[in-house]
Amino acid sequence: MRFADVLDQHHAIGLLRSALRSGRVHHAYLFAGPAGTGRSEAAAAFAQALQCERYQEDSCGVCEPCRKVTSDVHPDVRWVRPLEGKTTIGIDQVREVRREAAYGPHEGRWKVFVFCPADAMLAEAQNSLLKLLEEPPDRVVLVLVVESAQALLPTVVSRCQLVRFNLVPISQIEHALRVQFGVDPARARVLAALSAGRAARAAAWSRDPEALRDRDAVIDSLVRAEREGLLAALQACEFLAQDRSRLLERLEVAALWYRDLLVWKETGDPSLLVNVDRQGQVEELSETLDRRALRRRLDALEEARWAIRRNVNPRLALEAAFLRFDAGEPAVGRT
Ligand SMILES: [Zn+2]
Repeated sequence: MRFADVLDQHHAIGLLRSALRSGRVHHAYLFAGPAGTGRSEAAAAFAQALQCERYQEDSCGVCEPCRKVTSDVHPDVRWVRPLEGKTTIGIDQVREVRREAAYGPHEGRWKVFVFCPADAMLAEAQNSLLKLLEEPPDRVVLVLVVESAQALLPTVVSRCQLVRFNLVPISQIEHALRVQFGVDPARARVLAALSAGRAARAAAWSRDPEALRDRDAVIDSLVRAEREGLLAALQACEFLAQDRSRLLERLEVAALWYRDLLVWKETGDPSLLVNVDRQGQVEELSETLDRRALRRRLDALEEARWAIRRNVNPRLALEAAFLRFDAGEPAVGRT
């Protein structure tokens, strides 16, 4: 991944480039912003830039270190993620990072650790990381990827250089998809709208048709759940929870879907919809659900997301959320 591959985050990339240019690379960065805006792509590009032998405003993409970073075999670039089957980064993983960091880079210029997502570290793990932040070894760079700095302990945040990733206007994403990625105009328009301002997500979709098919399957399952009731809702839970690697993205697709129903109900303005290709279904379902029912769905999904991040079984968290959809007022809003 090169800086040139990160869509439309010029401010963030500019900050990283200027650190590399001046040689004043900070020992810890906080990449903060909504998922899908390019935080992990920028982290990969930054790690590659730090190792590249021929760096000039961007990594070359062809030298040996670049190729090793790209194929994820560079010994000095480590991604720290929740282990298989877990949703948190454990204290043991952080201790291991501290041990490795103490040795410095093995063959590269820098030792880079990317915590993705960093808020998968609970307080105990963050406190362990704090020791590394307080006495950073030479030539070690930590990148903490989060949605919001508030998800981390203030003591951790205060020791990191903040790099913000923002939602980008749809028209700007559409333009970048066409110009930077060569996507044809009609497809660029749909992808940009669906991305809801998340530039990196639009870029990923333009490369991976499977991701778009998955989004369609999520919405289809939600539509069935609303039309057909409990059994379809349980099937939707089963579907959403079955692929752990896509789970959080699926929940986001679901939240954007209900957000569209609410937006339609309140404005009736098609230009404000994210799911532009589903306007018919948005109209149909927003007729059958009132505002409170829609807000309850959004709250329940947010709660499920929160629970899953804290290791609650995804299927159970989702079933609890779907049961809350109509809790207390079974008939209200339905016609
Ligand atoms: Zn290179």
